[in-house]
Amino acid sequence: MEIKEILAKKILTEAKGYLDVCFTHSLNPYSGCAFSCRYCYVREMPIQRIKEIPWGEWLNIKTNAAENYQKEIIKFRKKNNPVNLFMSSATDPYQPIERKANITRGILEAMIEAPPDFLQIQTRGPLITRDIDLLIKLKEKCDVLVSMTIETDREDIKQTFAPLAPGMKLRIKALKEVHDAGISTQASISPVLPFTPDFPKELDGIVDHIWIDTLSIGDGAMDKCSERLGMPQLFQQHELSQWYQRDLHVKVEKYFKNYFPSEMIRVSKKDAFPR
Ligand code: SF4
Repeated sequence: MEIKEILAKKILTEAKGYLDVCFTHSLNPYSGCAFSCRYCYVREMPIQRIKEIPWGEWLNIKTNAAENYQKEIIKFRKKNNPVNLFMSSATDPYQPIERKANITRGILEAMIEAPPDFLQIQTRGPLITRDIDLLIKLKEKCDVLVSMTIETDREDIKQTFAPLAPGMKLRIKALKEVHDAGISTQASISPVLPFTPDFPKELDGIVDHIWIDTLSIGDGAMDKCSERLGMPQLFQQHELSQWYQRDLHVKVEKYFKNYFPSEMIRVSKKDAFPR
């Protein structure tokens, strides 16, 4: 892994595409991502396409992220604009390096001093439980939603599609800890991967919202990006093609509505991000 410390010009990026429905900005404490999920759409974005090093094998640590946040939020506040943040859209704020680098933790500390209106943390990293102390303080000042990506409840499937990402049991346990601390939580089934019939039961009592997205509707290019990443072939290779269908989100939504009230469930492209 090639790791560099960099000084980023700025840390808040204006939200575009699917994000701009409910967010004003995305915030990425790192560029690159050690979790290296095989379906990751960032692999197809310019930041990776112009690189010679494969996705998952490089990482930039934005050492001035908290400092930049402080400066940039002051500007937005002066203009009286709302600030609804999505952290993160093109990296994971709780990937392994965060344990030492503390970039995300530094940003949360800065947010306690100068909060946004809304912060959604999107992660696969159980390390988020380290920062529960800060999240408790922050939720007194703004809306906070911790959204853990839980694409499946099957460890074997996780190993096939995202072998370097944390295990599913660890993620579910971490989300429970966050929920037990009184912080709003979401399970982001994104992208939907093959799961067991008991999946909804495993989320029962630990989530306030469920977000459903699939490789077909959520790759930012209506399937094209997932196709370029070889996802249909990967599903086929493992005899899972029945899980790679354009209407998969409809079936999954229906299945989860047998267990959870409709208002808890949101589906990508159909509904806005829940607040
Ligand atoms: S955790 Fe997110 S950013 Fe990182 S590789 Fe997986 S999908 Fe991509």
